[in-house]
Amino acid sequence: MGKKRGFSVKEDEFHISVHNGLIGFEFEKAEGGFGLSNIVNMLTGYSFMLPSDEAASLWKADFRDAGGKAYIIDNKVDCKRSYRVEEKSEDALVINFEWTDIDLGDEKGVINVKVSLTLKRDSALSYWRIKLENHSRKSCLWEIIFPLLENVGATRDDPSHDLLIVPDGWGRIYRDPRKMSPYQATYPGGWNFAMQFLSFCHDYSGLYLAAYDPKAYHKRFIFIPDTYTGTVVKHLPRSSFQLINYPENMGVLQTVYEMPYDVVIGVFRGDWYDASQLYREWVLKNAAWCRRGKLGKRGDVPRWFQEITIWCMPGSPPEPRMDPGDPKYVVSEVLRFREFFDVPIAIHWYNWHKIPFDTDYPEYFPTKEGFKDAVKKLQEFGVRVMPYINGRIFDFNCRSWLLDRAERYCAKESAPRLNAQTLQKYVEFYGSRQKFAVMCPFTEYWQDKIAEIVERLVGEYGVDGVYIDQIAAAPSNLCFDPEHGHPLGGGNYWFSGCEEMLRKARERAREKNPEAILTSECNAECFMAYLDAFLTWHSFQGELVPIFPAVYGGWTITFGRSFTMEDLKNPISFRAKVGQMFIFGAQLGWFNLYEITQDEYKAEAEYLKKLAKYRLLGLKFLLHGRLMRPLKFDTSFPTIDLNWTFIQKTVKVTLPVVMSSVWKADDGTLGIIFTNISETPQLVAFKIDLKDYGFPQGKKYTVSRITEKGKEKIDEYGSTEIQFKDLLPGRDVLMLQIEAN
Ligand SMILES: [Zn+2]
Repeated sequence: MGKKRGFSVKEDEFHISVHNGLIGFEFEKAEGGFGLSNIVNMLTGYSFMLPSDEAASLWKADFRDAGGKAYIIDNKVDCKRSYRVEEKSEDALVINFEWTDIDLGDEKGVINVKVSLTLKRDSALSYWRIKLENHSRKSCLWEIIFPLLENVGATRDDPSHDLLIVPDGWGRIYRDPRKMSPYQATYPGGWNFAMQFLSFCHDYSGLYLAAYDPKAYHKRFIFIPDTYTGTVVKHLPRSSFQLINYPENMGVLQTVYEMPYDVVIGVFRGDWYDASQLYREWVLKNAAWCRRGKLGKRGDVPRWFQEITIWCMPGSPPEPRMDPGDPKYVVSEVLRFREFFDVPIAIHWYNWHKIPFDTDYPEYFPTKEGFKDAVKKLQEFGVRVMPYINGRIFDFNCRSWLLDRAERYCAKESAPRLNAQTLQKYVEFYGSRQKFAVMCPFTEYWQDKIAEIVERLVGEYGVDGVYIDQIAAAPSNLCFDPEHGHPLGGGNYWFSGCEEMLRKARERAREKNPEAILTSECNAECFMAYLDAFLTWHSFQGELVPIFPAVYGGWTITFGRSFTMEDLKNPISFRAKVGQMFIFGAQLGWFNLYEITQDEYKAEAEYLKKLAKYRLLGLKFLLHGRLMRPLKFDTSFPTIDLNWTFIQKTVKVTLPVVMSSVWKADDGTLGIIFTNISETPQLVAFKIDLKDYGFPQGKKYTVSRITEKGKEKIDEYGSTEIQFKDLLPGRDVLMLQIEAN
């Protein structure tokens, strides 16, 4: 014990404490159950866990017998406990905690649990694993919560300075989490958890909670805030963080569960950007889905697709009697759209099939009359066509359900018990109220079914790519069908099955058209190897920050967000939405064909056109660049309050009228990009030190402005300290490039 080579382990009367000078932990002693009672950010001196009268938690496991009876044990359970410190190398210290001979009901001493914590020298991140041995003959491990931190909170004064950062869509901050609902997310599941980390901060003291799982095992991330709304604060808010892990072969007696990934608990000084860079540092080097490399190098995301700038879709038509997906309307409207914007555009074509929307899937054929000719016609004018299909659900009242005996291939859930006898399909319904079964993506049947539809659309109808709904959006399911050949319940087969399905679909499509693309709904990092882009339509509410681009800028593409008629009727709302996605580096859209091109919205269409032109000029930043730390301004810009509606829900959003982002291109230049969404000129003034962006001192730097006319030099600097001041007109863009001479 004691201090050795930068590490310190101490046991006193009350606690066991360990630190490496950057991050520190305090555990209850053996008799207290080794609960984690404090996490200290030694970079800021901030403690993340509140003092409590109750013993602290660390893990909790749920076992089930054949009658469904639950046996729940946790780190406080009555058993033998011990810990030992291992110094594995000069640079790592490992502490192993053990709980042995734990009883499960009337079975004595059948469970042993081991938790290891690894601290590395010079790292503010710590790495955790859990292993559980089960000698019960009656009960199986169903799920294990680890880590379980039930006492996270503001340990100093004002909890309104707390914030929670989550990878929801492009990224989101909840300020003062007392006001939010519990945040529960399944991974993989792009609807609200694009990447495997979240962060709880108090001002600039950050706590980073992540799973470093390069193979995307099924898991759940849960943050439960202590919500109280009374005016009198009686106690400090006490929130909990849980990661729920699911063993492979749930429902089966097995002797060992060993977590196949690290849980990472870290600290930092900074904000959402710093948290994103911790994750970026790990994920790009380690995750299976990053193996193909950057967009510019991987070579399989076609150039035409990289240059798509605006997405349109046949939304609600002006007259209710019109069929929005009818090729004859679509062609004339899209061509009008194309002519006005004069940039590379694509149509995301819904309702190209005769079946009603969300009915009879996957029987998409035949198409509506004239679809094939319409595709050809649009392509003659340079428009790219991407029809919609759903890649996940099967209408079990359609013909092929019985013909194919497709029930064999749907995902099946089990009651939480040992050896459940009867499994059932997951049933879902949407606006059409037709009933769907969720299919298991690990089955060859379903992989081939989707690949066949994609191949046919590309081969027979000549489309440029296919959008496969729900694959990236929907939370993965636990499937217990033993005929499917994957582990039961937990595992990473949902990821590997979907990936294989996408691989087959892309490969078969590319036999017909080597430049065909695939996209899906929402953004789920783990599918980026075979998806060319993610539809970020759902990212709209609260305080959005570009966390996903800060991790994956230059590695994958996001496109589209939800626009409504209300946005056009309140034009600054429209400009705010499209301006923000421009600044975040997304492909712009998706716009309802029958709305944006109407004469009364000409001014908004002109602004969109300007953004689109600038996007093309700045692709080396906005598409291929790395998103850098945002600028800091001495005086803040005026803000605007907006109401954004999404699936009948209205949320309040406040945004500055000038938005900006900073990008570093592969050629070493820095791009600083602004847009002014207001109608009046705004003063843009900033100072930066290029050292903070990785540029060396002792060089000269040139600042230029990029416009449609080309690159125009503004100023030259003999040091890394750059200042800029100019008026930016309303509805305009400023794109600056800084380079070393
Ligand atoms: Zn299955």
